[in-house]
Amino acid sequence: MAPPPAHPLPFAGIATFTRAPHHPPDGDWAADVGVLGIPFDAAVGFRPGQRFAPRAVREASLRYALPPEGFHDLRTGRQRLAGLRLVDAGDVDLPSLEPELARARTTQAARDVRARCRLPLFLGGDHSVTAATLAAFDDVPGLHVVQLDAHLDYTDVRNGTRWSNSSPFRRAADAMPNLARVTVLGLRGLRADAEAVAAARARGHVLVPMWELETAEQVAAAVERLPRGAPVYLSLDVDALDPSIMPGTSSPEADGMTAALARRLIEAAAARNTLVGADLVELAPALDPSGNSALLAARLAMDVLAAAFP
Ligand code: MN
Ligand code: MN
Repeated sequence: MAPPPAHPLPFAGIATFTRAPHHPPDGDWAADVGVLGIPFDAAVGFRPGQRFAPRAVREASLRYALPPEGFHDLRTGRQRLAGLRLVDAGDVDLPSLEPELARARTTQAARDVRARCRLPLFLGGDHSVTAATLAAFDDVPGLHVVQLDAHLDYTDVRNGTRWSNSSPFRRAADAMPNLARVTVLGLRGLRADAEAVAAARARGHVLVPMWELETAEQVAAAVERLPRGAPVYLSLDVDALDPSIMPGTSSPEADGMTAALARRLIEAAAARNTLVGADLVELAPALDPSGNSALLAARLAMDVLAAAFP
């Protein structure tokens, strides 16, 4: 059998994340990066569709399929990500009407992937899945979360629900004494919950609203508020980005980040710390039939990998 071409066409062949080999989460493999899809959107408070995101990101990622020699970085003249070993562990097998079991299976699959690679990359799913993936890091002392998001997601209860996509970091903070703090960048949602804001501040979380990320000086000051020297789980809610470039999301909020700002914050978080896990959540690809939101999400996932493996 002929070996696969080094530069396959992005619209041909089977779609795994960047054409990485596919192994189950608990299979016999080891890699630098393990990708796990969580096609779950039952916890959405507004428009659903995030269940389609892992497949959409895989498809879009074929545009960024890694050639063995890596990518040439125009800024530095260096090759990046050459020889990076990626595995696509597929999707969590979710029981659609059993959310508690869905969380348990997600945490187990996240633990399995984490045990086999240096950086697990989780593709949501709505943001509720982060409560389940973060739980796989309950043994990491001094764990920090850096969250890019228009919303705080620290609501205790909404409409009698404790596990919606408005609550993942409240649930994690309740359950994980090893979670040092969450640093949230890009906040601007109109429907902020006063109790949640007070509770997050009381626990020592760092809240950076979008209007404190407008000038270069403000961005530099925000970078200084990021953790330093810590194990960091990066949670990237794509609604942190401006809806003009990321319309394919459940709860878009105007006046969001440029891709350049998101990348700058991701790079700073990675450069100052050790990334131990990352997720990309809240992409609802059907809300952007152009496909550009999925393409940008795939690009941001590659930016996370480039930041983690400089
Ligand atoms: Mn969120
Ligand atoms: Mn959000």
